[in-house]
Amino acid sequence: MISVTIDGPAGSGKSTISKIISKKLGFVHLDTGALYRAVACFIKKSNIDFENENDVKKCLKDINLKIKKVGNEQRILLNEKDLKNELRSLDITKIASKIAAYQSVRDYLLNFQRDFAKFQNVVMDGRDIGTVVLPQASVKIFITASPEVRAKRRLEQILKNGENFDYLEILDSIKKRDYEDTHRKIAPLKKADDAILIDNSDMNLSQSVESILSIIKEKVDNI
Ligand code: C5P
Repeated sequence: MISVTIDGPAGSGKSTISKIISKKLGFVHLDTGALYRAVACFIKKSNIDFENENDVKKCLKDINLKIKKVGNEQRILLNEKDLKNELRSLDITKIASKIAAYQSVRDYLLNFQRDFAKFQNVVMDGRDIGTVVLPQASVKIFITASPEVRAKRRLEQILKNGENFDYLEILDSIKKRDYEDTHRKIAPLKKADDAILIDNSDMNLSQSVESILSIIKEKVDNI
């Protein structure tokens, strides 16, 4: 099967870009950050102390994740319930980032992600897809942009949703997440040696999509 991995920091646009690319190629998209967020949702709902790795580890056996297709969208079912927009709240973002550093959580999600790529062509985005989850992937991309550009994009997204937030607060949280994601011991955010680096600070969405599509077409025959 053909697999395209797109890793990068928060706000680099990787999920939006991956969604468009998978649609253009007729591949299936998996946003792996949403899996960590789904686990975080369960932990929050069950009032489990997310700072306590042991408690988090114990609860994993009670989590059943499934991916459901709704039109072109992938929805995550947590114990058969569609999580809809709950995944994107700031609370969940914070818990997801914390529990993503636990080995037990990463092990739990690793097989789920690998199985997903076994029988279908995929575009998978995350932090460690090219380095850990699918090291044999057909094409690996590492996409990034300056923290300031990423914070500006996040703010635009938030304003579009009718909410408001302070730019400096967003910038601060992006920098904190970058630090946590790149400095954790297990599966840190890192460009795979054989990944192609794209800095899209000065690109718009369609330019980012086109540049990645042309890399994929160059690397994979008959696509
Ligand atoms: O990409 P997104 O912001 O939705 O990811 C939520 C959190 O999940 C990130 O802060 C990151 O710590 C974690 N994550 C990860 N590995 C992945 C995808 C996400 O550690 N492959």
